[in-house]
Amino acid sequence: MDMKELIRPELVTMKSYTPIEPMDILSQRAELSVERIIKLDGNENPYGCSPKVYQALANYPYYYIYPDPEQRRLRQALEKYTGSNREHIVCGSGSDELIDLVLRLFLKPEDKVINCPPTFGMYPFSTEVCGGKVVDVPRGGDFAIDLAGIKRILDEKTKVISVASPNNPTGNTVTEQEIMELVNTGKIVMVDEAYFEFSNVTMANLVPNYSNLIVLRTFSKWAGLAGLRIGYGIFPTEIASYLMKIKQPYNVNVAAQAAALASLSDIEYLRGNVAKIVAERERLFNKLKELEWLKPYPSSANFILCSLHCHSELPFCHSERSEESLAKEIWRQLQKRGIFVRYFDSPRLRNYLRISVGKPEDTDVLIEALKGMC
Ligand SMILES: *Cc1c(COP(=O)(O)O)cnc(C)c1O
Repeated sequence: MDMKELIRPELVTMKSYTPIEPMDILSQRAELSVERIIKLDGNENPYGCSPKVYQALANYPYYYIYPDPEQRRLRQALEKYTGSNREHIVCGSGSDELIDLVLRLFLKPEDKVINCPPTFGMYPFSTEVCGGKVVDVPRGGDFAIDLAGIKRILDEKTKVISVASPNNPTGNTVTEQEIMELVNTGKIVMVDEAYFEFSNVTMANLVPNYSNLIVLRTFSKWAGLAGLRIGYGIFPTEIASYLMKIKQPYNVNVAAQAAALASLSDIEYLRGNVAKIVAERERLFNKLKELEWLKPYPSSANFILCSLHCHSELPFCHSERSEESLAKEIWRQLQKRGIFVRYFDSPRLRNYLRISVGKPEDTDVLIEALKGMC
């Protein structure tokens, strides 16, 4: 039996998503103990989650009961946190699930999604899993979205325009004016604000005014809950009610709901960690700027994108190695020292690395290692 004959052909040929690996796997790869791993590849929160999360999880009495399919307590708490009415809010198993649900709600086979690379890989991933077509409209030199290019390529098969703000991996935000122009096209505009707490730029307050504007958020980054998978979106009420209809009834597990509620009861503590990360981002940026062969891009998120350039001080540049493999070489050298950053294999980001902001001591080790390359 040829399984390929049975599987949907577009899934046989589709490219796999490149996920990041957990600590223990990285520690094996670097042949270093877990304590010596500096994990700057996943935009995770170096301060972890609120201590109240551990208490809430230890004391939660109803693990044997299914979660609330209506997510009532969490949506109520999010109403207070976001300032958006709970009718607008739907929670998911990470915002990744909400990206998937939104696309499943709107896409028929062959329908199109506008993607603005370089950007987060889940938009093309979920589009293809849904049988849709990804239409890439690359960002410009400064990584701003190409508004004119997007508008030019829209047609009746285009259903959704996805834009991350701050964008991963470039760190820049979109303006309200840009989003309004997209909203005025009448297509569904999905603004992914996974890093909102680090930027304080949001389109959430506009959502109630339009029937086609969606804002996605997550607890993974600012609240340090990446491992528990909890995100939410702020949707026009009509879209929210369809999402509630098509989602798996128990999509957000009770531990994730309890952890999110505990986080929302400890916002001051978590905001303190966000402030530390933002301050460290600026310190890291200035240190990276001092390296002649590396250019950091300003970021409104918890990571910094860097382009690398061959320089006479770098040993790998003298040899026959082309500039093509410079980022990969640096990535490999850092990995040997237990420092994991994100390396990209796409043509557009061939000579770029993305570095998540860690604790000050992580920055110090990283900068020493980078200086040691020469
Ligand atoms: C990390 C990230 C997400 C994923 O969030 P989860 O809630 O962990 O699924 C979504 N969008 C962007 C742009 C991200 O970088």
